[in-house]
Amino acid sequence: MLSRTIPCLWITFCLHLCCHVDSGEAQNAKEVILLDSKAQQTDLEWISYPPNGWEEISGLDENYTPIRTYQVCQVMEPNQNNWLRTNWIEKGNAQRIFVELKFTLRDCNSLPGVVGTCKETFNLYYQETDSEVGRSLRENQYVKIDTIAADESFTQGDLGERKMKLNTEVRIIGPLSRRGFYLAFQDVGACIALVSVKVYYKKCWSIIENLATFPDTVTGSEFSSLVEVEGMCVSDAEEEADNSPKMHCSAEGEWLVPIGKCICKAGFHQKGDACEPCGRGFYKSSSQDLQCSRCPAHSLNDREGSWRCDCEDGYYRALSDPPSVACTRPPSAPQNLVYNINQTSVSLEWGPPADTGGRNDVTYRVVCRRCSWDPEECVPCGPNVGYSPAQSGLVDTYVTVMDLLAHANYTFEVEAVNGVSDLSRTQRLFAAVSIATGQAAPSQVSEVIKEKVQQRSIQLSWQEPQQPNGVITEYEIKYYEKDQKDRVYSTVRSRSTSATVNNLKPSTAYVFQIRAFTEAGYGTYGPRLEITTKEETTAAIVSSEQNPVIIIAVVAVAGTIILVFMVFGFIIGRRHCGYSKADQEGDEELYFQFKFPGTKTYIDPETYEDPNRAVHQFAKELDASCIKIERVIGAGEFGEVCSGRLKLPGKRDVSVAIKTLKVGYTEKQRRDFLCEASIMGQFDHPNVVHLEGVVTRGKPVMIVIEYMENGSLDGFLRKHDGQFTVIQLVGMLRGIAAGMRYLSDLGYVHRDLAARNILVNSNLVCKVSDFGLSRVIDDDPEAVYTTTGGKIPVRWTAPEAIQYRKFTSASDVWSYGIVMWEVMSYGERPYWDMSNQDVIKAIEEGYRLPAPMDCPPGLHQLMLDCWQKDRAERPKFDQIVGILDKMIRNPNTLKTPVGTCTRPISPLLDQSTPDFTAFCSVGEWLEAIKMERYRDNFTAAGYSSLESVARMSIEDVMSLGITLVGHQKKIMSSIQTMRAQMLHLHGTGIQV
Ligand code: AMP
Repeated sequence: MLSRTIPCLWITFCLHLCCHVDSGEAQNAKEVILLDSKAQQTDLEWISYPPNGWEEISGLDENYTPIRTYQVCQVMEPNQNNWLRTNWIEKGNAQRIFVELKFTLRDCNSLPGVVGTCKETFNLYYQETDSEVGRSLRENQYVKIDTIAADESFTQGDLGERKMKLNTEVRIIGPLSRRGFYLAFQDVGACIALVSVKVYYKKCWSIIENLATFPDTVTGSEFSSLVEVEGMCVSDAEEEADNSPKMHCSAEGEWLVPIGKCICKAGFHQKGDACEPCGRGFYKSSSQDLQCSRCPAHSLNDREGSWRCDCEDGYYRALSDPPSVACTRPPSAPQNLVYNINQTSVSLEWGPPADTGGRNDVTYRVVCRRCSWDPEECVPCGPNVGYSPAQSGLVDTYVTVMDLLAHANYTFEVEAVNGVSDLSRTQRLFAAVSIATGQAAPSQVSEVIKEKVQQRSIQLSWQEPQQPNGVITEYEIKYYEKDQKDRVYSTVRSRSTSATVNNLKPSTAYVFQIRAFTEAGYGTYGPRLEITTKEETTAAIVSSEQNPVIIIAVVAVAGTIILVFMVFGFIIGRRHCGYSKADQEGDEELYFQFKFPGTKTYIDPETYEDPNRAVHQFAKELDASCIKIERVIGAGEFGEVCSGRLKLPGKRDVSVAIKTLKVGYTEKQRRDFLCEASIMGQFDHPNVVHLEGVVTRGKPVMIVIEYMENGSLDGFLRKHDGQFTVIQLVGMLRGIAAGMRYLSDLGYVHRDLAARNILVNSNLVCKVSDFGLSRVIDDDPEAVYTTTGGKIPVRWTAPEAIQYRKFTSASDVWSYGIVMWEVMSYGERPYWDMSNQDVIKAIEEGYRLPAPMDCPPGLHQLMLDCWQKDRAERPKFDQIVGILDKMIRNPNTLKTPVGTCTRPISPLLDQSTPDFTAFCSVGEWLEAIKMERYRDNFTAAGYSSLESVARMSIEDVMSLGITLVGHQKKIMSSIQTMRAQMLHLHGTGIQV
């Protein structure tokens, strides 16, 4: 009976003492209960074996809720083996099962007479099965989980005082693989009451994190395992690129380590754990944006959940416009379209449109139409018309339309376009002008046919040029012997489209080119046509050999014709102010063994009685308000030279140099000052400085010239000593020669050609400047009085001009040779510090400047040719341009091994040049050339005698540590002179 009554009392006490423990343990949200004995109010009906072992006893908890317990207390008898087995517990997905036992256990010591039989532990077992296995119980099928001991057992005191303690033990089983299991309790002789058995597993419960839903997830089988779970984006959300949402479910049922996230789709924004659509009038263009934004200007929407807003009527969004920018519209028409016609070119300029349509990508396009006299009948201009800088996509507000037909009507429409112009269906807005082009020279004569080739004559015919641009009054046929060295050519003229060229040599290749002439002048020559005359027959040779009289007669007659024609042409030319044209009939031919004068000649302003008339004949009078003077850049003879800007109405403003006439000038000074403008205004060539105009009707009197950013060539070269390639230097020389060819073709003799009178612009283009008559020379600080009277820049001037003032294009060629020397030596002073008298003497004795350092031999040879004593022997500017062009085309001819080509062909020797042979020491020599700072460098390298110095090469000089190119050159040039002197005076052969 004891075994049955005592446990009952324990339970009653237990519930009273420990009720707070139960009620305080709220159900853990992470747990999924599989079995809770306390929750069951009916009999548990577990299997107990043997039948007198564990006994199911009912009780009430503090809420009078019935609970079921199992008790056993067979402490008096030995060898107890009482089993209690639960019902089958289906485990579901669980792998790791928690078993929580609440029990009381009686202290054996408190029970009298139980020594040896009473135990204070019991054993916990489990058996895995896939289904229920009936009510039989086989011990050996169970796996032991643990022996459970009470943390606290209880005793019963003598005074009936009872202390009972509820023990809670939790054991974990797993991993389990079958569908379910049983738990079993083995009692081996203890006094136990099993108050509650709870079996559960843990789970991470579904949550929403970072807009992703993570489902209920059963924990892993091991204590340390984390289960990785992929999240699913909530509706209207999407995974962030490469960042899909993940979380990890811990063994304790907690979500850990969130990775990645979802974001609300375009048109939706986040509110709590969900994505909500953007409201009306709002949009969200990308999932990346956080918030919905209000529709930008000129756009709207009346739907919820929009990713963009629609443009209002008449407004557009370019393909490249993001939804966040305002809708825009095409610009209005350009304003204030003005034009300027120059023969067959038209320059158009306009102002930006008043309304850019809300965009900053406005460009312009030009539509050109050629119209008949009826302005309604216009056709597109077609591909033969050129546009500079372009026809469309113009960023700047100007364009030049070229190659139009002469005397034709055109309309030009200038349209402003922006990124939405092509989307708009509204009418195009443009500014338009209608113009008529002026006269223009005819286009090329390109289709030439050889009709008949004889021993001494060739008959040619050709088509009229495609664009005659007027009435063609004659054609000029230019020809020369192909293999002739100096390319002297002859011309024949014809009024029809055929001509026979006579007096040719047999078996000789000739090159022909034809150009047409109209009132507007000559067109350009057509392509070269090469034709070889037929071989001479013996009979013909014999007859001419036998008849020398005939030859003399023919030559005499031809000579007379030429002479007569020259005189005739000259008279006509003078009368017509430049253009010399022979009066011819039909195919009549005339032969010239000289260059046919161009269409224009230079007119000496001194020939005008009223110099003001000359100025206004050749120079444009400018309004002083169009000129903005910015700063002073130099000093001229008559006043300051300033830089500034010139803005003519309807034109872009341009940089200009402004020469001013100082206040208090005399009438003669004014005349001399403006004389330069009268001359310059007659020139139009890319290598001759361009006159913009003059201001004579205001004060100060000004001459406005194109601005040349790099100033005078001599200073520019000195500043950039050694910094250019030979090709660049030759390019500059070519430009100067081309400018001089142009001037000499016009019959203008410069008289003061020198690097200081060449200006250089920002593109390194060299232009001839400083024009005038006598005054130029007065102005030039280099000019000195000579015995022949007048001032002359001696070092640049040809001997015949110094001696008897014979200034011609040939004397300009001499000066050009000096400019070549200045350029190749980066602005060195010609003849260094020799006196003018010594220079004149040296030249007279036949000495010439040696080649500057690193100067290609061919260039020095050209200089020497320019310095031929006999001016007829000097090359013409035309030939110089040809030679330089050839050099530029074949840069190999310009290659010079460093420091080699420096031996002058006829070395310059002069008493005034420091006589290097007279110096006693290297130090003295260095002092004389102002290079004494390098004295130690020479001594340290062992150059103790002038002989050893004279043998130095440029590499030797560089190896002394002299790094400045200018100094290297100065020293090298002095060494070369020294070497030449030694060679000349002592006959010392110096090998380098
Ligand atoms: P000139 O009176 O022509 O000798 O000019 C005096 C100086 O003004 C020159 O040496 C140049 O440095 C400068 N100069 C003259 N004309 C121009 C120009 N068109 N562009 C730039 N600088 C100029």
